[in-house]
Amino acid sequence: MRSPYFDDGHAAFRDEVRAFLAAEVMPYAARWEEQDTVPAPVWKLLGERGYLGLLHPRAVGGGERDLFTSVVFLEELGRTGFGGLRAAVSVHAYMATHYLSWAGGPGLCQEYLAPAVRGERVAALAITEPGAGADLSGLATTAARDGDHFVVEGTKSMVSNAMTAGFLVTAVRTAPGGSGHRGATGLSLLVIDTALPGVTRTPQRTLGWRSAGTATVTFDTVRVPAGRLIGRLDNGFYYLMRGLQLERLVAATLALGGMDRSLDELRAFLRAREVAGEELAHKQALVHRVADLATELAAARQLVYHTAWLYEQGELPAVECSMAKLHTTELACRIADTALQLQGSHGYLESSCAARAQRDARAATIAAGPSEVMRDLIGRAVLNRPADRSPAAKGS
Ligand SMILES: Cc1cc2nc3c(=O)[nH]c(=O)nc-3n(C[C@H](O)[C@H](O)[C@H](O)COP(=O)(O)OP(=O)(O)OC[C@H]3O[C@@H](n4cnc5c(N)ncnc54)[C@H](O)[C@@H]3O)c2cc1C
Repeated sequence: MRSPYFDDGHAAFRDEVRAFLAAEVMPYAARWEEQDTVPAPVWKLLGERGYLGLLHPRAVGGGERDLFTSVVFLEELGRTGFGGLRAAVSVHAYMATHYLSWAGGPGLCQEYLAPAVRGERVAALAITEPGAGADLSGLATTAARDGDHFVVEGTKSMVSNAMTAGFLVTAVRTAPGGSGHRGATGLSLLVIDTALPGVTRTPQRTLGWRSAGTATVTFDTVRVPAGRLIGRLDNGFYYLMRGLQLERLVAATLALGGMDRSLDELRAFLRAREVAGEELAHKQALVHRVADLATELAAARQLVYHTAWLYEQGELPAVECSMAKLHTTELACRIADTALQLQGSHGYLESSCAARAQRDARAATIAAGPSEVMRDLIGRAVLNRPADRSPAAKGS
């Protein structure tokens, strides 16, 4: 039976990605987690396979593939069960670099996007600050124009990939916002080379997502050439609002793969483990819990695919992106928690996949917009929508 979303080409691509990850990632990824990094040769390998530029234009070496090719890639990446790797790769390929794709000039794209697609320079996205995360209007890092440069001052926090990044797509305040140095207006996006004098990176040890190499980044009188501005001055908020939708859809898709992995491992454990002469997989109390989670995962998958389809049609389905992100990332926490519980002490060992899945799943309900903010966005949209307009009716 044909899927409305995937064709034979997608199926072949899934096999290819899965085989690649099994050979080149799975044997080594636990070590990268311990080392808090994804090593440089891995980025090169991903670049050579074209996996870092699936959505990017051919002019910079990208594949210009359809969105469902990326859905396949992200599901498979999630299925590795290594949240740090999936955060590192997705921040690079779908979050930071997409601002360059959308709004960067040709010179900036050749200088930064093309090597990023080849895996030669790692990209990070620096928005969050110690004093402002979910509320972008509180961002305080400034970029003051001085001749043909911007002078950047401030601190960014929780920047995934920061320790390996060659450049940071950075949200800066280029004009006062609504109330002085606050407000959503007056933000811009700058490409900041991590080699510039005045840039200091300090690792932050996180509960999960360890190979993503998270860090704070301080900018002390950093002189950034004015040509490194992405798009139009003071339009950063607009770009971020657009970019966050893709970020949330990507987070939701990765979560699907992570949940597949958790359920696969749980299934294998319940079949292999005998208690009082009976396989755990035969205990009805456990079978019903697995059934509930598998059912919820199947429903979540359709929400994500539908959202990707809407996105592919050229809409910016902000409400559906928030719903998909909210539902999948919270479900991933429940599935990871249940998988750990049902594997008993085996799941509780720090080195177990179940323990790592639980640590990693917790990150995703916070990063790219906490669940509470997702609920706020969805709730307001639902309450303000005309009575006959449901999200499910959109596009159908
Ligand atoms: C593992 C990880 C990786 C990350 N990677 C990056 C990255 O690469 N680049 C980057 O810029 N940032 C990154 N972040 C930061 C992330 O985007 C922020 O954590 C997120 O936006 C929330 O900001 P905050 O942590 O400052 O929390 P705050 O904004 O201080 O909010 C704290 C809590 O308050 C609640 N809350 C906040 N706003 C509302 C609201 N409007 N209504 C109701 N409740 C609310 C939520 O529960 C929230 O978790 C990462 C975070 C994590 C955990």
